[in-house]
Amino acid sequence: MISREKRHNEVWFTEESTKHLRLSLRVTGELVRKETPYQSLLALETAEYGRMLVLDGAIQVTEKDEFCYHEMMAHVPLCSHPNPKKVLIVGGGDGGSLREAVKHESVEKAVLVDIDEEVIKTSREFFPTLSCAMDDPKAEIRPMDAMVYMKDHRGEFDVIIVDATDPVDMAAGLFQSPFYRDVWDALSDDGFMVTHIESPFTDAAIMVPAYRAMKEVFPSVHPYLGFMPTYPSGMWVYAIGSKRHDPSKPLREAPKGLKYYTSDVHRASFALPPFLVDMLENGEGVESHY
Ligand code: SAM
Repeated sequence: MISREKRHNEVWFTEESTKHLRLSLRVTGELVRKETPYQSLLALETAEYGRMLVLDGAIQVTEKDEFCYHEMMAHVPLCSHPNPKKVLIVGGGDGGSLREAVKHESVEKAVLVDIDEEVIKTSREFFPTLSCAMDDPKAEIRPMDAMVYMKDHRGEFDVIIVDATDPVDMAAGLFQSPFYRDVWDALSDDGFMVTHIESPFTDAAIMVPAYRAMKEVFPSVHPYLGFMPTYPSGMWVYAIGSKRHDPSKPLREAPKGLKYYTSDVHRASFALPPFLVDMLENGEGVESHY
């Protein structure tokens, strides 16, 4: 929602994180506003966080803090895998996870499958620091539904990064066990799948079922934590489904020049506070959020 504050003649964008919680950023310019076949897309200049991409009213990326999220999505699984060569990114049409994946020398191919070509085009035009790897020789861009793509690619990928919008409409299935079964089939024998499962403070009713759905399919599922200022509550949970290896211990050096991820951050991110463990394992506190 965009509003004009009369007193200072300022324009503000407000995300409704829950019915009772909002996050507002002051807007200094509008870059794009359109309805795509899949969602409403908005790209804004903000005073505090640089350029920002919003889909269906939900903040997807800002230039200032996107590295916190993309480095933790990509490097935790990639540094825990002994030799990741083929990576699949589900969603992630802004290009941030792709940019991080191709930094790994071992990675020979990184496929980005986003259902909405308009997101990819908008990122290429207005978010060059995110989309900069889209023309990398290792990158392949496939604008299509990842649920369809996944069924035709068996045993192919070492790491699958599910960088999707919230679980509604075309993204709803990306947080459910039938999709995780297809992910399992698309992974090589020692593969990892990673996804974000949102915030314990605002999205427990999404987080807990998504975690349980992963556990129906993967023999071990490892949640981990990161800080992400412009996502609801700032406390962001990710989960890795593993076929064989333990993702909590990095095996390989991270690429140079990162701003959030280090091996120490990697190890520390798997230490979870008790309230979160209770919520994930016992559903403790889920109802009280809604
Ligand atoms: N990190 C972001 C967040 O959680 O706010 C997600 C960023 S990325 C822009 C999310 C992308 O997922 C969108 O571009 C959307 O088009 C894509 N997406 C949603 N459902 C999809 C599906 N079924 N197949 C492929 N891409 C999908």
